[in-house]
Amino acid sequence: MTPDDLAFDRDHIWHPYTSMRDPLPCYPVVAASGTQLQLSDGRQLTDGMSSWWAAIHGYNHPRLNQAMAQQIGQMSHVMFGGITHPPAVALCRQLVAMTPAALECVFLADSGSVAVEVAMKMALQYWQARGEKRQRFLTLRNGYHGDTFAAMSVCDPQNSMHSLYQGYLPQHLFAPAPSCRFDDPWQPDAADALEQMFARHHQELAAVILEPVVQGAGGMRFYHPHYLRRIRELCDRYQLLLIADEIATGFGRTGKLFACEHAEITPDILCVGKALTGGTMTLSATLTTRLVADTISGGAAGCFMHGPTFMGNPLACAVASESLAILNENHWQAQVAAIEAQLRSALLPLKAAAEVADVRVLGAIGVVETRRAVDIAAIQRFFVDQGVWIRPFGRLIYLMPPYVITPQALAQLTTAIARAVDRPELFLRQ
Ligand SMILES: *Cc1c(COP(=O)(O)O)cnc(C)c1O
Repeated sequence: MTPDDLAFDRDHIWHPYTSMRDPLPCYPVVAASGTQLQLSDGRQLTDGMSSWWAAIHGYNHPRLNQAMAQQIGQMSHVMFGGITHPPAVALCRQLVAMTPAALECVFLADSGSVAVEVAMKMALQYWQARGEKRQRFLTLRNGYHGDTFAAMSVCDPQNSMHSLYQGYLPQHLFAPAPSCRFDDPWQPDAADALEQMFARHHQELAAVILEPVVQGAGGMRFYHPHYLRRIRELCDRYQLLLIADEIATGFGRTGKLFACEHAEITPDILCVGKALTGGTMTLSATLTTRLVADTISGGAAGCFMHGPTFMGNPLACAVASESLAILNENHWQAQVAAIEAQLRSALLPLKAAAEVADVRVLGAIGVVETRRAVDIAAIQRFFVDQGVWIRPFGRLIYLMPPYVITPQALAQLTTAIARAVDRPELFLRQ
């Protein structure tokens, strides 16, 4: 890319959570293969992010490429209204087979946020069909569910700046962030506040929505599976729907195929996205029980009122199907276990560093929480100079590499983090 291209980018193109007036620098990537991103000046960076949880099999994967090439030769897209096609049927068969048995009906959507919108609309229509007006959701602080309005309304109010949209966002109920950590002994009182909220508000609640076990972009926190089990029990007791947002955690990232398995629970509605296509295309899915689907379909509208233009996009379905086929060969289990072991041995000792407040590892996720916020431009440059792609935010430096990463490449990532936390100049003064 020429300097002129980069100047155009800076002047005309929004990037995620980035100022148009005073943008952070962007690095030009021209190719990606395996776990390497190639910059336009030829430098190779080892990828620690899987492009935000998505590229679990690595980049430029021959089987994923082949699946797309084959599908392009048939049709890239055709509308889903009144039409079905082999890639959608194959994908939905796989999703129904690999998710908990009670989840039988699949709604295909175009991104994670839309899958969450769909799940929340389903919960509203479910209660409408049952003749009850229930429009509030209960969720957890420090959660993240996407950037569209309904999704944002259940994100952590501070992290997602609800104050900016005050008066426009619906007011939902926020339980305290789960205090009991994944690895700690279960504290019997850890769900008390939550239980009181259920008792007080259950009659107005449509559903509980949460990220099972791992809270991602809202703080990279791992909480005790027993907490999730309590929530399932409370949803059963008060007959509320449980929506599990596994958009980040789904497909093996936490060491289980789905994070709900840590607690051995089944949600009523499940959202998946991100890694669904192996990081190649945008696609998400919302799965429900037969009861939820039947109830909605028996309501006044007679159907679920949603149908995006690119619903069931054949190209995305074909590559998702191949990505799930790769997962079903089950190499991910050994890969994620090996990544977890190496992350533990390389990152946990960093707890001793002056800049570090906490280190936690679960599955193929490693988090170094620092005492001060990172200077994002400075630390990004430092990591690129170290030959790695790691993008921290706030006080969180974290890794979620592709499952196919080699021990050598993973060591490059953890070494870069160890060096970074030794450099006070990479953190903001407080
Ligand atoms: C990323 C994410 C979303 C939103 O997905 P998009 O594809 O970015 O819209 C929703 N929920 C969770 C848990 C996520 O990590």
